[in-house]
Amino acid sequence: MSTATSALSAEIALDLLEGELAVELPGHVRAFARAHAEGRPPPAAPLLARLASTLATARDAIEHDELADRGFAMLRLVAPLVIEDDPAVAAARAKPPSWPNLAELTRARDAVAQLRFGRTMIELAHLLHGAAAASLEEPATLGAPVAGWHERGPAADAASIQDAWQAIAARLGVSGNVRIDRSAQARPRAFVVEPKREVVIVVPQIVDTPAARFAVLHELGHAVCALALPGGLPRAVDEAAAAYVAMLAEPPSILPPRWTSDLAGEARARRTRLAAALDRVERALPDGGGDRDGVTRALAALGDPATPAWALWHDPGTQASYVAADAIATRLRRDLGTSPPRGQLAAALAAERDRIDRSIRL
Ligand SMILES: [Zn+2]
Repeated sequence: MSTATSALSAEIALDLLEGELAVELPGHVRAFARAHAEGRPPPAAPLLARLASTLATARDAIEHDELADRGFAMLRLVAPLVIEDDPAVAAARAKPPSWPNLAELTRARDAVAQLRFGRTMIELAHLLHGAAAASLEEPATLGAPVAGWHERGPAADAASIQDAWQAIAARLGVSGNVRIDRSAQARPRAFVVEPKREVVIVVPQIVDTPAARFAVLHELGHAVCALALPGGLPRAVDEAAAAYVAMLAEPPSILPPRWTSDLAGEARARRTRLAAALDRVERALPDGGGDRDGVTRALAALGDPATPAWALWHDPGTQASYVAADAIATRLRRDLGTSPPRGQLAAALAAERDRIDRSIRL
């Protein structure tokens, strides 16, 4: 029920909000990246990003076709912040990770998500991030760990990582400021300080195994995506870009020889099976949700872990995006090869984003 007037007021409110966040977010994201690399708790997101009125502005924008893409981008940014900022969610998240505590944390997240969006937190994450239709076909077993994937060899130094980045950036036609921070303890992670301009990636301190080189390439892939497209992408698209770049480790490759590995394809397949099993488990939270047999099988495939995986606690709803991302990345590699004409990767990723945006019914 959009009218010209309400479309105009929605646009003005969105312009204002985007402008204010563009001022506040870069400093926050830089501080977040530093805290992450040093193992300190992250700073609180800017208040503006956590306000109910911000959520309302994003939802108003989605009602108007010409603003919908920007509205979805804003919603992807702020919906998790609003949920995680809820006092009951924050209290549950501060408890030690255990299966009963994860059920409690899920109930707290779902209470906010139901109130604001009329669906569970996991359903919302899947919907916004292009993972609603990801396969539920989790494998019976993950298969043995890939022999040699964690075997040590010569370490890649900073110059070698820069060489890999230069090769990737030149081939895929992206430019911008990419800072590469090394951390012995932190999980590899990418931080988009300013879309299309500035990215910080945190990668392992010592890069001397095929697994560590994969981790570096994956985060460089997130950097490619951040420099190529506006922010607020569906996670499935962002992870697909990272997966596409990490697939450059699979010969034949444009990368310097030490960045490739004959084991990379097998390791990727196993990672996707792991994500599918975790997805099956988290879809059924908090209490099995009528899928007890499926959850039991998935947990058995995972080795019946005593405590939930880090991602289920801190990054809910993401496993299905990894599964969807692998399918998208496989398609990109088939359609574009390893040296796409300039601009083709960005165009293909934007098309995936648009396909996902059009599928969302809130
Ligand atoms: Zn990733």
